[in-house]
Amino acid sequence: MEVLVVGAGVVGCAVAWRLQQAGVRCTVLERSVPGAEASSAAAGILAPQAEADGPGPFLDLCLASRALYPAFARELAEASDVDIAFRECGVLEVTFDDAERAAMQGRIAWQRARGLEATWLDAAAVRALEPELSPHVGGAARFPGDAVVDNRLLVSALTIAAARAGARLVTAQVHGLLERGGRVVGVSTDQGEFRGDAVLVAAGAWTGLVPGALSSPAAVRPARGQMVMVRTRVPICRHVVFGARGYAVPRVDGRLLLGSTMEFAGFDKQVTVSGLASVLATGLRLFPGIAGAPVVETWAGFRPHTPDGLPVLGAGHLPGLFLASGHFRNGILLTPITATVLTETIVGSPLSIDLDPFRVDRKALTL
Ligand SMILES: Cc1cc2nc3c(=O)[nH]c(=O)nc-3n(C[C@H](O)[C@H](O)[C@H](O)COP(=O)(O)OP(=O)(O)OC[C@H]3O[C@@H](n4cnc5c(N)ncnc54)[C@H](O)[C@@H]3O)c2cc1C
Repeated sequence: MEVLVVGAGVVGCAVAWRLQQAGVRCTVLERSVPGAEASSAAAGILAPQAEADGPGPFLDLCLASRALYPAFARELAEASDVDIAFRECGVLEVTFDDAERAAMQGRIAWQRARGLEATWLDAAAVRALEPELSPHVGGAARFPGDAVVDNRLLVSALTIAAARAGARLVTAQVHGLLERGGRVVGVSTDQGEFRGDAVLVAAGAWTGLVPGALSSPAAVRPARGQMVMVRTRVPICRHVVFGARGYAVPRVDGRLLLGSTMEFAGFDKQVTVSGLASVLATGLRLFPGIAGAPVVETWAGFRPHTPDGLPVLGAGHLPGLFLASGHFRNGILLTPITATVLTETIVGSPLSIDLDPFRVDRKALTL
């Protein structure tokens, strides 16, 4: 069996790696630099609990993927020789006023009822854990199971692992799907036609631009996020820290990532004055001590957004077509489970997770 994978972000590369391990030959078609889009733009936060709005299939999917991460990181290090800096550092979601505190305590309550570890810390307890946090922080929820990776290392590790497992990486822009007898049998590209037994579209925010991949091209669209990296000599915190308007993610070498905006600006990848102002204001509100830290990098990327915020995972609307897209804010977190369930779907083995809530023909995507 031969599968053509459209897109070499973390999603496309991870599925190709797992498929090769299952004995399926993969050709990954990437128009540009593998992993250079959302997968490199991300912050690397693995936070089902800090991100969750409530219990349900999406939380279950995110938790299943987080649970896979420790073994996934070890296996990737063996396969690629790249350590992706997976750290179970925990997330602190801090509050500044009574309304935020009440909302956070509600979140802790439902998560505990769901059997998850989540605790409330008062101001003194938060500062004992993270002394550099603003003195105006009134308390925080602590989600000790949430974690982080260096997503740029993840991009490298997955590209290497997929290639070493035998996946072929081709630089080609996919223009459309080839159909015969109502079945997808390949793709057309600027480098000619490629034939395969199945096509997996993993084109991130550009999925809607691959003709025929989705019944409504607007079902996946780009949500821009702007990021700033500053450098501190000693890491300013150990936890990933969320505030109401953004987050700070420490790397072990002192780099601190600040994020992020959420904008619908088409495919305009510029970093803007108001975007940077908002990200920096959030960073300063959390950690006033970074005021003198040098800014070392700024960038923007496109989250693949869907109308209901859920990914699109599994079979497409024609035989031979599969989709792994729409991972929105959580594609780095969801990489291991996506690779597992898409491999199961394509080779036809029993699924580890019910994919019904994420199917491509759900109502929210067809309106
Ligand atoms: C600022 C920001 C912060 C984020 N932070 C986090 C985080 O902390 N944690 C988390 O879990 N997630 C985070 N995300 C989300 C995460 O980055 C994405 O969900 C994830 O990277 C999506 O991976 P992907 O492989 O689907 O897409 P991408 O990485 O965008 O890859 C898609 C690839 O497809 C290629 N492609 C597109 N069209 C074609 C075509 N026609 N032919 C050939 N190739 C094509 C593109 O060139 C690209 O390389 C963040 C995203 C952003 C933008």
